[in-house]
Amino acid sequence: MTDIASKLAAVREEIARHAEEFHRDAGEIRLVAVSKTRPAADIVQAIEAGQADFGENYLQEALPKIGALPGLDARWHFIGRIQSNKTRELAARFDWVQTVDRERIAARLDAQRPEHLPPLNVCLQVNVDREPQKAGIGPGELPGLAQAIAAMPRLRLRGLMAIPAAADDFEVQRQRFEVLRGLYDRLRADGLALDTLSMGMSGDLRAAIAAGSTLVRVGTAIFGARG
Ligand SMILES: *Cc1c(COP(=O)(O)O)cnc(C)c1O
Repeated sequence: MTDIASKLAAVREEIARHAEEFHRDAGEIRLVAVSKTRPAADIVQAIEAGQADFGENYLQEALPKIGALPGLDARWHFIGRIQSNKTRELAARFDWVQTVDRERIAARLDAQRPEHLPPLNVCLQVNVDREPQKAGIGPGELPGLAQAIAAMPRLRLRGLMAIPAAADDFEVQRQRFEVLRGLYDRLRADGLALDTLSMGMSGDLRAAIAAGSTLVRVGTAIFGARG
């Protein structure tokens, strides 16, 4: 087994263990391997170990990697900051964009999603801590944005994503994730057909799964520390 394959297996086991602890079905938690800064060869190793979903933060870095892996069965998630002049490439080359936080960006993705592809999967990034330097829509404006995007035909609104402020303590981590979970439950109660709660990274998987995460984004624990 390669190093990446054994780390991937360990992460899958960790997810299963946390799911069991919190009485959840591990099959409803999607693992996205965050491959930013990693060469295409690492991604190939992960694909050969059965990994299908990959997350990238930087378009300039992601496009050559996606182009270098044609015909391989990978799904690409964009999880970085969106520049409005780059939406055409995002709409054409990615399967998911998890970091939408403005209606204008969503409208561009909707207009630019190529006709031969299925609707683009979208999550709304929420700034749960209202940190001014951080991307994401504030909880108050979320319902209006979600309703507007749900009506866009070339987008499929799947759910919410957040990167809460870093914390070491499990209960603090869990509390931040529960805020996102509450917003998600409210949108679903309002009739939106959401199925994705994207939260949890290498350092806070247990708290995210405790709070109901259905998609975790893991880089370091799979590929090692970034340089
Ligand atoms: C880098 C990154 C991750 C992965 O973080 P790790 O701590 O390496 O697991 C997850 N989500 C986003 C948005 C990231 O930028």
